[in-house]
Amino acid sequence: MGFETDAVHLGEEPNLGAGGTGDVVAAIHLSSTFARRNVGTPTAGYEYSRTGNPTRDALEMKLAAIEGAKFGIAFSSGLAAETSMVLALLRSGDRIVAFDDLYGGTKRLLDRVFSANFGINVDYVDATNPERVLKAIGKGARMVFLETPTNPLLRLCDIGKIAMGARDMGVLVVVDNTFASPYFQRPLELGADIVIHSTTKYINGHSDSVGGAMMLSDRGIYDKLKFVQNAAGAVLSPFDSFLVMRGIKTLAVRMKEHERNAMAVAKLLESHKSVTAVHYPGLESHPQHTLAKRQMNGYGGTLSFDINGGRGAAIRFLEALRTFSIAESLGGVESLAEHPASMTHASVPKAVREQIGITDSLVRLSVGIETKDDLLADVEGALAAAGRR
Ligand SMILES: *Cc1c(COP(=O)(O)O)cnc(C)c1O
Repeated sequence: MGFETDAVHLGEEPNLGAGGTGDVVAAIHLSSTFARRNVGTPTAGYEYSRTGNPTRDALEMKLAAIEGAKFGIAFSSGLAAETSMVLALLRSGDRIVAFDDLYGGTKRLLDRVFSANFGINVDYVDATNPERVLKAIGKGARMVFLETPTNPLLRLCDIGKIAMGARDMGVLVVVDNTFASPYFQRPLELGADIVIHSTTKYINGHSDSVGGAMMLSDRGIYDKLKFVQNAAGAVLSPFDSFLVMRGIKTLAVRMKEHERNAMAVAKLLESHKSVTAVHYPGLESHPQHTLAKRQMNGYGGTLSFDINGGRGAAIRFLEALRTFSIAESLGGVESLAEHPASMTHASVPKAVREQIGITDSLVRLSVGIETKDDLLADVEGALAAAGRR
C-alpha cells in the first residue's frame, strides 16, 4: 500500500472477530502486567509492559511501515534509542565514524558518556564529502553514524555512496532521519542498516510527546536491540505510543504544509537585504541542492539563516516575532524560532561553533503549518524590527 494508507491503517485494523470491539483506533493498554491462565506461558502473549505492550506493538508496526522496514522499536526518547543502540551493538574499544555536524545531544552522549566512560572511540569527519567518511572507515570502524540534513545548518551527506562503501567493509550504517522524516527521505532504501528518529519532532508532530524510534530490517540486529531495550528499560509509555500513532496518521499532510511554508519563508529571507545567508536544501543556492533533489522527496520544514548585525540583530529578530514562539525543538505544527549559539548549541564551545558555522548571527526556524501569509508577515515584521536599534 502507499505511504499515506500504511500511515493511517497499519497496526490499527479493526478487530471484528470474537471478543473484538471494532474500534478503528488502537486502544491505550495502560496495564503494567498481564494475567495468564497457566504458569508456563503468557495466555494472551503479553507478560509485563517493559517487555511488550499491545499499544506499543501497534505503534511499532506503523513505524516499520513508514520507513519501509521489517521492524520498528519505540523508545522513551531519541537519545534513549541511541543509547540502546550503542549498548546493543558496540563494545569497549570499538570505533564509530560520525558526521562532525551531528545533533548536539548525540555528540554529548557519544563524547561525555560512551567515549569518556566506556572506551568507545568516536572519529568525527566532514561527511558532506563521502570520500572522507570512507577513508576514516578504512582505518577500522564498527559503525558509521550519519545525520542528514543536519541541525542547525541543514548540511547533507550522500547516504547511498557512503552506505555502499561501508557495506563492502562490513560497517553498520546508521542514519538519524529526524529532520527529513520518512515522508521525505528513506535511508534504508538507500542502503542504510538502521534508521533512528527523535519522534519528538516531525513524527509525533504536535510538541506533546518525547520519544524515539529505530527502524531496520535485519532480524539478528533487531533481536539484539530488543534484548537490550528490555534489559535496560528505555521503552515508550502506552499513552505516548498512542500519541505518536495519532501523529503518524497526518505525517504526510503535515510535511507537505511544513515544506510549502518553509520554502516561502526561505525565499523571503533569501531576497531580504538584512539576511546574509539562508540554509535550506530546497533553495537552488544550497551547496548540496542537487544531492537533496536526488536523495530526498522533499526538503522539510526547518531552516536557518544569518542576519546582518550579529548577535544583537538575531536577538532583536527573535524577540520581535509574534506568531513564532522562541523555543527549542522543532517539527511541531506550531512555528518555533531559536538562537542556536545561546540555546540548542550553547554547550558547544564557541571556537568549535564558529568553526562549524554556528555563528552568533544564526537563527533557526521550525516553520509550522499556520497560514503562510501570517508567517511571512511575522518574519518580515521581525526583520524590520531587527534592523531598527
Ligand atoms: C531532538 C533530536 C534528537 C534527540 O531526541 P530526543 O527525543 O530529544 O531525545 C536526536 N537527533 C536529532 C536530529 C534531533 O533533532
